Amino acid sequence: MNAPLDLNEFHWLMAIVQSIDVGVVMLDRECRIEIWNSFMENHSGRQPGEVHQQSFFTVFPEVDEAWFRQKLETVSQLGTPAFTIWEQRPYLMRFKSYQPITGQEDHMFQNVTLIPLRATDSEVAHICVIIYDVTEVAVNKRQLQSANRELKRLSSTDRLTGLNNRGHWEEALRHEYARHQRYQSMAALVMFDIDHFKKVNDSHGHQAGDKVIKAVAELVLARVRTTDVAGRYGGEEFAVLLPDTDAEGGRLFAERLRLAVEAMRVEHDGVAIPVTISLGVADLGRRSNDYQQFIEWADHALYDSKKGGRNRTSLYHPAAQ
Ligand code: GH3
Ligand code: MG
Ligand code: MG
Repeated sequence: MNAPLDLNEFHWLMAIVQSIDVGVVMLDRECRIEIWNSFMENHSGRQPGEVHQQSFFTVFPEVDEAWFRQKLETVSQLGTPAFTIWEQRPYLMRFKSYQPITGQEDHMFQNVTLIPLRATDSEVAHICVIIYDVTEVAVNKRQLQSANRELKRLSSTDRLTGLNNRGHWEEALRHEYARHQRYQSMAALVMFDIDHFKKVNDSHGHQAGDKVIKAVAELVLARVRTTDVAGRYGGEEFAVLLPDTDAEGGRLFAERLRLAVEAMRVEHDGVAIPVTISLGVADLGRRSNDYQQFIEWADHALYDSKKGGRNRTSLYHPAAQ
């Protein structure tokens, strides 16, 4: 048993509780507020006298009552502390944040500890709720996460078109090929190249060329399903991986795309630029050694389309080799 505090010590302790930069609220078993320190006063704008004996849930209607009561009940019954962290729940009570670094976050992030307070008869008659302002940590972590996401997006995306860049696209193909090896899943690969693109650059300028590449990429993006993976394979060469699709499905996709490109209108300085593409399609219906071979097949079919007069789709055929 601790020796009773003398009056001086009691005043010192109260002064400490008042001045620390942490919220302290003491609740009775009915969730009525008994004590409220200056952190709470400053952030809620309410004096201790205003909230004394008021229900915690009346003062803070934003608190999920069922969840918080359950939490308090557990603390009372087990007689052990409980915690919530901002990553699970950003805050218990909604306080405005005054941190200048917060950017779009205007509320305080909080970690909360609930401590059982035993009366002399050893029943838990009160619970102390301690609120830590962790806004700075939370905002820094969120900013770091969003910077990392953006970095990842940039490192996997082609700047001009917004399609996957070659490295990322090949990574996706490698993944799909591994799935095929494990589960014998089907996949089709469509590779295509803009016809006589050098002429576009030569006659209309590089900027016009870029515009054409962008316009073609937009048509591709509008046509792919969420599971398809479209990439810019090279300068004016593209590749689309179609999982769970055979060569016939790939050919249908390719033909629709070819017709859409032929029909699209790209203008530069008031001059219409005709654009066509040549496409090659292969699927994994035959034995393959690796994913590079899959690319070679589609590329070979693309070469057949070029040889055959351009603005067409060819299916890979081993006899053609
Ligand atoms: P083919 O029908 O045989 O494909 O003829 P092509 O002229 O399209 O073929 P080639 O591959 O020889 O030329 C592609 C040209 O694309 C060469 C290159 O200068 C140009 N190019 C590559 N990347 C870009 C780019 O990002 N922007 C622009 N404007 N031009 C590019
Ligand atoms: Mg070309
Ligand atoms: Mg080319």
